[in-house]
Amino acid sequence: MQTDYERLANLNKDYLWNPFTQMKDYITSDPLIIERGEGIKLYDMQGRAYYDGFSSVWLNVHGHNVPELNQAITDQLSQVAHSTLLGMANRPAIELAEKLAKITPRGLNKVFYSDSGATGVEIAIKMAFQYWQNKGVKSKTTFITMNQAYHGDTIGAVSVGAIPLYHDIFRPMLFPSHVIPYPYAYRHEGGEKSALDATLTALRDLLETRAEEIAALIVEPIVQGASGIVTMPLNCLREMAAICRKYDVLLIADEVATGFGRTGAMFACELEDVSPDLMVIGKGLTGGYLPVAATLATDEIYHAFYADYEEQKTFFHGHSFTGNPLGCAVALASLKLMEERNMIEGVEAKAAFVEQKLSNLKDRPHVGDIRQKGLMVGIELVRNKDSREPYEWIERVGVRATQRARELGMLTRPLGNVMVFIPPLASTETELDAMTDILAKSIIDVTEGG
Ligand SMILES: *Cc1c(COP(=O)(O)O)cnc(C)c1O
Repeated sequence: MQTDYERLANLNKDYLWNPFTQMKDYITSDPLIIERGEGIKLYDMQGRAYYDGFSSVWLNVHGHNVPELNQAITDQLSQVAHSTLLGMANRPAIELAEKLAKITPRGLNKVFYSDSGATGVEIAIKMAFQYWQNKGVKSKTTFITMNQAYHGDTIGAVSVGAIPLYHDIFRPMLFPSHVIPYPYAYRHEGGEKSALDATLTALRDLLETRAEEIAALIVEPIVQGASGIVTMPLNCLREMAAICRKYDVLLIADEVATGFGRTGAMFACELEDVSPDLMVIGKGLTGGYLPVAATLATDEIYHAFYADYEEQKTFFHGHSFTGNPLGCAVALASLKLMEERNMIEGVEAKAAFVEQKLSNLKDRPHVGDIRQKGLMVGIELVRNKDSREPYEWIERVGVRATQRARELGMLTRPLGNVMVFIPPLASTETELDAMTDILAKSIIDVTEGG
């Protein structure tokens, strides 16, 4: 007799194709099958508990199975699960739009929904493109992105992506984008100041000669996530925004990872008082509960589409589940909880605690760089600390450290040789204490354990 776990594990291997997963490896493992969640812990089918040390891929805010969020969904469910936003509306979608306009940087007053970060990015790109077309500026058709950028996995989002491992294979089918360097201080000869100069100079030089071809710059503000949690030097974002404004190029802020308190402010743009022209949000928007994303636009952009029907300036874009009432209802409930519990204000003290705990790792022989903004942490592991020589990717040091963390009771997912720690904002100091202990032990065990 096979157990229920064995049955599901086999069905997983027979029928399920997991994302970002080499199935040949997966098929030989005992898959982790999550059965339920409670607080910041997830429980597998065998009843083993794991801290959710990466917020279920950077989404979760309040923990799992939160009564207030569950209630918001059941309340809405007893009204209607879904109805379209094409040419009509629903209560939670409207109320959430108002709320989002209020909490996002000034000027962003129009909310266009979708269902994932990638679709939110597609919308921002298409809006930026059509904005210039509608205004009669036909030449502004290309985009600038940053080296190692990640904006999601649909074709438009991949076209402004710059992570070779994920994106290069698709290059022949993508539209070309300009790529400027990202200020990756740890791996920049000359350090932070020089990395910052290189970025700003590249942007200025590009816009000096080609601004009339360029619709927008897209950027992950303050923290570049998927490249390895790489933080920007101070004032980088502010300077980039000023350069874009000077040359009449739109700024798209991809706050999918950084939004909703993750970096210590509601949105990372606030840290440098930047108001982008378009902003994409997702992940934490629903507290990590349901797939809702949104693209926010300024009135200026909105009004370039606002015209007599015959002018054909309509934004012809939408998804079946755009503005889903269940998702919008839980997003509203999540934002309410964030306010009631002063969660953003709480991030600073939690982040300081984590920073102090992780400082013990600084002297370890294979910990190259510890990067942190709020509750977003990346620890870059290196073979040689003095020369900063990386581990070969084939050694899968990040994967092994993550596996060790799982054995010790915490889930996370590495980014190459970078260990990622992105706990739910609701994590208490006691929980952060336990999680950082596991994080440190898994790193030490794998890099020093022989
Ligand atoms: C996760 C992420 C995306 C993609 O969001 P999905 O919901 O996975 O499509 C886009 N941009 C950034 C910065 C992200 O971290």
